[in-house]
Amino acid sequence: MSHQLRVIPDPFEFARRGDTLQGEVDARSLPRLAESLRDLGVPQRVAYELSGSVIEGKPFLTVLASVELTLECQRCLGDLSWVVSADSRLLLVPRTEELPDDELEEDDFDPVHAWRDFDVLGAVEEELLLALPLAPTHEQCSVPVAKENGGERSPFAVLKGLKTGG
Ligand SMILES: [Zn+2]
Repeated sequence: MSHQLRVIPDPFEFARRGDTLQGEVDARSLPRLAESLRDLGVPQRVAYELSGSVIEGKPFLTVLASVELTLECQRCLGDLSWVVSADSRLLLVPRTEELPDDELEEDDFDPVHAWRDFDVLGAVEEELLLALPLAPTHEQCSVPVAKENGGERSPFAVLKGLKTGG
């Protein structure tokens, strides 16, 4: 495995400098995310980028992540490719301070406690988990569906397909 920065030693400094870091990780190695995955023996590469910024004097981290995951279709239980992407802004709050109240969370960011050695992969995994669909299914499962009249299908034909298709 290539050497990549897995922690940000000082996330507040990272934000102040407007630094950016990019990396790649196999989704199967992220323990909480892996629970939702089908492991077909090939990597499910997550590309991620973290960038720091200061907005109105406050330190932020933007987390971008994108991956094509292999999930389980909740209808036919077959393998299902699913592109998940995350784009989140985190407000860095020192551990010594309280997180802002919920009532302030109409803004488009999430406050998180941060300190030294900010866990890059933990943040990427968290954002991908939030972006996961609750009950992913194929648009059309490979169960045969009756096609009649060369295209136009009446609701009754669909119903019939459902009854015989199971
Ligand atoms: Zn399916």
